Amino acid sequence: MPVALPRTGIAVDSTLLNTMRVAKETVVAIEYTLKDDQGNIIDASGERGPMEYLHGAQNIIPGLEQGVEGLVAGDTKNVLVPPQLGYGEYSEKLLQLVPLTAFGANTPQVGMRFHAETNLGMRVLTIKKIDGEEVTLDGNHELAGKTLHFDIKVVSVRAAEPTELAHGHPHQSGGCCGGGGCGSGESSSEGGCCSTGEASEGGCCSTEEPAAQKQGGCGSGGCGCS
Ligand SMILES: [Zn+2]
Repeated sequence: MPVALPRTGIAVDSTLLNTMRVAKETVVAIEYTLKDDQGNIIDASGERGPMEYLHGAQNIIPGLEQGVEGLVAGDTKNVLVPPQLGYGEYSEKLLQLVPLTAFGANTPQVGMRFHAETNLGMRVLTIKKIDGEEVTLDGNHELAGKTLHFDIKVVSVRAAEPTELAHGHPHQSGGCCGGGGCGSGESSSEGGCCSTGEASEGGCCSTEEPAAQKQGGCGSGGCGCS
């Protein structure tokens, strides 16, 4: 539909205003549903609302980022992400045995997850097995080794602000300090599907310091995130 700009009288086809393509240094919002090979839903943006991320800044897994490249708002696509472009292959090397006594007064249970400093940096470890006095820890991401099937819809594409480029993540309506998308879900802190491990564990999306996020919030100037 033509839009008449009052001062100039130039008629612009409004559909042309929304054709920015997903590329490096754009902030992209997508809705997604993630399924495994069997068609089971692993995660979905759903009620959290669209996930917003800074394209080209490793906010999301490489395979998904590649799949979104070049799309425009309104586009839908099925994106198949193999493990090597997702959360990596499952590695037996990331299993580790520790004595039960390492947990001190805490009682470990199978399935329990926690952050720990390892020789590979900060990782989320899952207790995989408890056998007598021996506990098997698994440093693989819960989605390691899985082929991921994303159904995505691009909601919006805009140019990133300089501060967003400097911080390496989007501000305001989602990604940074909550309100939707990656930042708010409990699952995101554990490296949920929308985020890379680095971003979710240390970055702005982390839910580990909710107080800091609220106080330093995006809306009040600084993002509160480094
Ligand atoms: Zn920021």
